[in-house]
Amino acid sequence: MVDMDTIVSLCKRRGFIFQSSEIYGGLGSAWDYGPLGVEFKNNVKHLWWRDNVQLRDDMVGLDAAITMHPRVWEASGHVASFSDPFTGCTECGRHYRADQIHEVLWSCRWFRAVQKVLEGPSAKKNEWLAITNWAKSDGKKIAPNFPLTKSAEVPAGVGSTEYPFEGPEDPKFLKFLETLGNLIARQPDTMPLPCPSCGGLKLSAPKPANLMLETFLGPVRETATKTYLRPETAQGIFVNFDNVLQSARKKVPFGVAQIGKAFRNEITPGNFTFRTREFEQMEIEYFVAPGTDEEWHQKWIDERFAWYQKYGIRKDNIRIREHASDELAFYAKRCVDIEYLFPMGWSELEGIANRTDYDLKRHAEFSGKSLDYFDEESKQKIVPYVIEPSAGADRSALAFLIDAYHEEEVREERRVVLRFHPELAPIKIAVLPLLKKNHQIVQTARKICAVLQKRWVSVYDDTAAIGRLYRRQDEVGTPFCVTVDVQTVGDGKSPADEKVTIRDRDTMQQVRVAISTLEETMANLMAGKWEEVVKQ
Ligand code: ATP
Repeated sequence: MVDMDTIVSLCKRRGFIFQSSEIYGGLGSAWDYGPLGVEFKNNVKHLWWRDNVQLRDDMVGLDAAITMHPRVWEASGHVASFSDPFTGCTECGRHYRADQIHEVLWSCRWFRAVQKVLEGPSAKKNEWLAITNWAKSDGKKIAPNFPLTKSAEVPAGVGSTEYPFEGPEDPKFLKFLETLGNLIARQPDTMPLPCPSCGGLKLSAPKPANLMLETFLGPVRETATKTYLRPETAQGIFVNFDNVLQSARKKVPFGVAQIGKAFRNEITPGNFTFRTREFEQMEIEYFVAPGTDEEWHQKWIDERFAWYQKYGIRKDNIRIREHASDELAFYAKRCVDIEYLFPMGWSELEGIANRTDYDLKRHAEFSGKSLDYFDEESKQKIVPYVIEPSAGADRSALAFLIDAYHEEEVREERRVVLRFHPELAPIKIAVLPLLKKNHQIVQTARKICAVLQKRWVSVYDDTAAIGRLYRRQDEVGTPFCVTVDVQTVGDGKSPADEKVTIRDRDTMQQVRVAISTLEETMANLMAGKWEEVVKQ
């Protein structure tokens, strides 16, 4: 699988995602979507919206405000308990989510470097030399507080009583290697955990930290209203339950969907756009009659699991993880995560919870407004149960991007290709002139591009030779290139054939079609009918 550094660098190079405020040194954990990134992420959101709202009779949409009445967050339970335990390093001052510290450690830079040294060929022959050399050079820079690197001249063990080591045969050194080996093998109980940032061994005991970002509405801080940037979009749907019910005349079972920004003061943001403090959610609250909730929950799990695969996520890279009973929120009946095999390991892509009637009841209690629903069938008032499929737009986009990434050898050259589903690809068609000095070719190509742009995101590019242009489009996942050449426009020797060459990104096969049928052909190709087009 591709590593995250490769993805980050591709995203920057080709204008998918940039570090926020980069010219000021960057803001950790915030990312900006560039020219291709915004198209791509919009496609993810559009497909989610189309499939979950526009193609269903039982769903409607909503776009609620980011700032809400402060009481909303008391009712929802966020003020009292939306917190994660955190631990801090007293040597370098960095903080980590206590329940994620192992994962962070195993993917941090210095720890990966130690691992490489220990597994490398020189370590096998002479561990003592390999590890002390690392400690004196790279280790000193990237893990300055790890005891081994702190006193690199006289290599130190992990615990203060264990060093100095007296040489490669010293049993203390062998013990040290064993403990480090255990840690690398993810058996962390054998030593105090080092700080992922500096290697120091002084991590504090875990404490809870509220994750909501506060904000103040009003010009004078003393009299301003304190509220929060919403940590999830869901509450905007619950507080509008009655408005939607009355205006859209929906009957249970029905759902409300929303896409929007959410904010969490995450303790350990990281892994590129996987965990950030500002992110976008794609959430559904699906209201059902009590008693039908379990069945609906399962339907949504199946539906959402299939959705990711429909747009290209490979079966082996996605799974469903059932929450254990001690993981469940006290009001939830059942919850599953859809997980993706990210470069740092299996991690949550979407959570799908059966939240019972907790949210509607709490908002009714705190607001004093009834949020009952009159059930025509049983002629009774009920409080619907809620099934919540809650996905992240950024995490989904990242998973689609990672899954699409392929490297291969073509004619002894490395080809990087993003095998995006055509509906996800930021650019659908690139129109390329074979000779940019031939006025007629250029003019025809530009004309074709203008026609295609009305239906698909299409670009014209003549800034390199054709081979380079193809590679550039492969690297950003453009499914089809259309090439205009001398035959298309004709020359003194032969008349114009008014045909263009279409090249398929994945197979690199080519087919020649008449310009007059190009739009129709493209529509067929976008629908995956390459073979049919070739036959014609
Ligand atoms: P995690 O355990 O990873 O913190 P969570 O269980 O708190 O996630 P939910 O509250 O269920 O997440 O949020 C629903 C979805 O929103 C997640 O599945 C994820 O796709 C997205 N999401 C949540 N927090 C973040 C974040 N900090 N950055 C990016 N996406 C996020």
